[in-house]
Formats: sequence, C-alpha cells, structure tokens
Amino acid sequence: MNAEEVKQLGTELGADIIGIASAQTLNAFPPDPRWPQTPEKILKTCKSVIVVVHHIPVAAFRAKSNIPVQYIDMLVLRRMDRIAYKLADKLERAGHPSFVTAAQETDWNMKSASYGHLSTRHLGIEAGLGTFGLEVNILTPEYGPRVYLTGILTELELEPDAPMTEQVCIGESCSRCLYACPTDAVQHYGIDKRNCATEAQEFGFMTATNFFMKYVFADREKKKNMIKSRELFGFWQGLLRVVGSFGDCPRCLAVCPVGNDYHAFLADPQKVIPEKTLEKVAKAKRFKDARKNGEDISGLDDWNIRWVGPGGYQGIVARQMQEFKKSQKEKKKEKEEAE
Ligand code: SF4
Ligand code: SF4
Repeated sequence: MNAEEVKQLGTELGADIIGIASAQTLNAFPPDPRWPQTPEKILKTCKSVIVVVHHIPVAAFRAKSNIPVQYIDMLVLRRMDRIAYKLADKLERAGHPSFVTAAQETDWNMKSASYGHLSTRHLGIEAGLGTFGLEVNILTPEYGPRVYLTGILTELELEPDAPMTEQVCIGESCSRCLYACPTDAVQHYGIDKRNCATEAQEFGFMTATNFFMKYVFADREKKKNMIKSRELFGFWQGLLRVVGSFGDCPRCLAVCPVGNDYHAFLADPQKVIPEKTLEKVAKAKRFKDARKNGEDISGLDDWNIRWVGPGGYQGIVARQMQEFKKSQKEKKKEKEEAE
C-alpha cells in the first residue's frame, strides 16, 4: 500500500482529513525535548504515523450552553477511534504491523500533568494538516480548531506529507481565543494549562484530588455534606460519560474564525464575545507589539516556530472566506435559476 491508497482507505472509512508524518522527523523534533513525545519511545521500528482527523459537528457550538459540545466531543472521539482502528487493522492484515495510539492520554512519569506519549496536535502539524493557533490548538484550514486527531503507528514506510509553512492562525490582530477564554489561560502561542484545566476539566483529576484531600480532614458533619455535593456528582458523571472531566470548555474553539464551518454557521452567533475585557485587549496588544518589535517569545522561538508556521500569516483565512462567499453566491444563483 502507498500513501495515496492509505489516505483513500481512511477517507472511505470516515476520516474528514488524513495525513502522514515520518517517524524519523517526529523523533528528531519532539515538542519538548526534555520530555520527548516520540514514536521511537513507543515502537522502535515505527516508520510512519498516519494522522486521522474528525471534525466536531458545528451545531453544538451554536447552543446556549457548553453541554452539547461536551457530549458531542465524546461521540467524536469514539467514532474517530473506530475509524483509526479499522484502518490499522486493514494495514496489519495486509502485512504491515500497525496500531492506534490513545488520542487523549497522560503518561504520569513525564510531567505529572496532561501530557501523553505523543502529542496529537504536533502529529497533525507534522503531517501537513494545519498549524498552531495562538492558544496552541492545531488549526486546520477546513475546520479551524474544531477537530480531534489520533495517530496510527505503522511499520510501513509511507511518503510523508510536507508540513505547512504558512501560518493558519490570523495571530495577535485576531486574538479572539484570548478574548473568549474565561480563565485568561491563552498566552503568546502558549497556554497556561492549570488555568485552562479549571474550566476545561471542571471535574478532572486536580479537582478530584483536592476534593478527597479536603474530605480526609473534614469533620463528620462536613463529610456528610460532601458526599452529597455537586463535585462528587460531577466525578460520577465524568466516569460515566466523560462530560465534566474532559474537554469541558469549548470557548476558544467556538470563536476561532478559521474554517468554512465557522463562516457558514458560527460567524453570526459567535460574533460578539461576552468575555472580552479591556485587560484582555491590552494583553493582545502587548503580544502584537512584542512580535512586531522582535522580542523573545518562547512560543515563537527557533524550536517552536516550525509548528506555528515559519512563513507567518499570509491571509489564508481571508482567501478562504472570499472563496466561501463566492461559492455561496453561485449556489444561490443556481437555485434561483432552477426555480
Ligand atoms: S481565534 Fe484568532 S488568534 Fe485565536 S487561534 Fe483562531 S485565528 Fe488564531
Ligand atoms: S479550553 Fe477554555 S479555558 Fe482552556 S484555553 Fe480554551 S477557552 Fe481557555
């Protein structure tokens, strides 16, 4: 099987986008060399990583509350894993040992934080599927950051895709993700993971350990109340349905203007960002000035720039929007002529 056949197969199985990264490149460029997330640490003989992307249906981002996105996230992850599993199985049956990696996992020995054996965002970028946004989600031209990714490690040598050099993220002059973030966790092509986790993992690991720590030292009466608290219910619900323990906050995904799904269905409902404050506007301006003045920015340093897009922003979103509007007009005209 060659790269084109593998991609064709992945698409037939239901992948929205699919790309291939070379294991050699991934081994040479770990996201953080102090804690290398590389295929060779999982499988020495891995030659290629096939990256499967599934978009998050946009309707949930139009809802009044975050709950529909949380539920859809879980369904998308399950569906994506099934697609990747079938693809890996077909490769193996064709004589090429292959397996799917967990899309969302943590190796406790690495950073005692949410940090997996591989970073799916980086896999996607190395497979030519997008570049980092200001909030370091991968932004795909097709769906912006409203995607999930997983990787299939294979011993089959496949022609890798070239990473994009053009920055997909509009950058500091946009900063919509920064304005929308309820915990002000967005940094300059970086993220404050702890701040983000308070919203994105409301009933996640840290909330659970803090709760049980308090419980251990509480008196009898307080313990009784804690047993019937919202927190404990949140953990239970999280175990059952993921909701609450993972991917709780969709704000930076909802407001990002990259992708035709945004132009078609989110531009109106997400136009106004209620969380925007004067302080956040000042922060975005500081970022813009720092980049313009060539200041040292860790998210844009010589190591990290390959994932942000070394060519800088060249107007991909504006081009995409023009094409989208043009095609909308043509469709409307065709419809009118048919009536
Ligand atoms: S909202 Fe704007 S600044 Fe943030 S990731 Fe998307 S394009 Fe980049
Ligand atoms: S997921 Fe929510 S809390 Fe985390 S960076 Fe995005 S907007 Fe901020």
